[in-house]
Amino acid sequence: MKDIYDDNQPRSAYVHVPFCLKRCSYCDFSIIAGRDDLIPRYLQALELEISQCLQKFDQSPQLDTLFIGGGTPTLLSPTELEELLSILLRHFRLAQGAEYTIEANPDGLSIEKQQVLKQFGVNRISLGVQSFDAEILKRLDRKHSPQQVIGILEQLSSSMPNISLDLIYGVPGQSLASWQQTIQQAIQLQPAHISTYALTFEKGTSFWSQRSKGKLKQVEDLCEIEMYQWTVETLQASGYPQYEISNFARPEMESRHNCAYWTGQPYLAFGPGASRFVDGTRSTNHRSPFTWMKRIEADLSPIDYTDDLTSEQRARELFAIGLGYLQGVEKSRIERQSGHRIESLLENELINLKQKGWIEETEQFIRLTSEGKLFADAVACEVI
Ligand code: SF4
Repeated sequence: MKDIYDDNQPRSAYVHVPFCLKRCSYCDFSIIAGRDDLIPRYLQALELEISQCLQKFDQSPQLDTLFIGGGTPTLLSPTELEELLSILLRHFRLAQGAEYTIEANPDGLSIEKQQVLKQFGVNRISLGVQSFDAEILKRLDRKHSPQQVIGILEQLSSSMPNISLDLIYGVPGQSLASWQQTIQQAIQLQPAHISTYALTFEKGTSFWSQRSKGKLKQVEDLCEIEMYQWTVETLQASGYPQYEISNFARPEMESRHNCAYWTGQPYLAFGPGASRFVDGTRSTNHRSPFTWMKRIEADLSPIDYTDDLTSEQRARELFAIGLGYLQGVEKSRIERQSGHRIESLLENELINLKQKGWIEETEQFIRLTSEGKLFADAVACEVI
């Protein structure tokens, strides 16, 4: 995919909606469970945050991609969803052909809500399917059934041109066969895009404490690798080439929003815990939805901390993030964005990674090898 963003004006925005029915046992996102009564207050705070942030722009930014994530944005009632989308419409201009995504859970995405999304021009849904195995869904605390996903996809088929399915592997108790059945079912449903994430145990989650008490057994590393490799081969053979470590898409259906992150483009972000990158600075909002709301209501900045990266740190970070994108990191882009030649800055690290067989270099790009894809996190640690 082409590097479509070339200036310093943010052309992407993320909006975090922190509401969920219940906290899933593996989740450590910034969310509030079971407090739908706070949604109107959240919407007011969100509009205030956006208005304050956009004051520094001469006119409302024109966006190529807008992503509403969570949490469960589609937990909002049809009226609240309408209010959220109206706020965004009031403050942003969407470019012709912009990618407008919302994350949704299969349960609760009623026909009425689907109509609201369509009416406001949302043209991409990232559906939190996770698995087509009912037992695994139960283990993950997900409330939907595999049949519900199939039903929702049928309903969306005429109104939503671009659907992505989010799937999780490496769930305790999940066998290779169960995962294979999930992937095969996903392929049969023919979405435009599939994301597959390895489950991680985050401190503070229920999964973390259950594992510490020996009540939960992690999937063996070798089995997880087998799941990953099988996924890459199967999706590739079924018309979904891998374009990022965790992402597969039909040709031309890659997530443009995520590509903006991976290629180091500036982006705006709003809502609790949201991080933006503007004018060379990354700033991150308070993670607690309550703190975030209270600060905005008191006319205080919702920003918790700011990373002022040196140009060298920026070059290293751009390289580490960009490597996940499988076409590789364009060397000239890093130089353009940071002022550093990556081949000189990381000379020793690159020699070491090549010796391990984890990266390869062409005239224009440096990229992960097939083996390197298995060690993407270790590669990133080495260059940061
Ligand atoms: S639905 Fe998603 S965001 Fe909400 S608790 Fe579950 S994993 Fe977390």
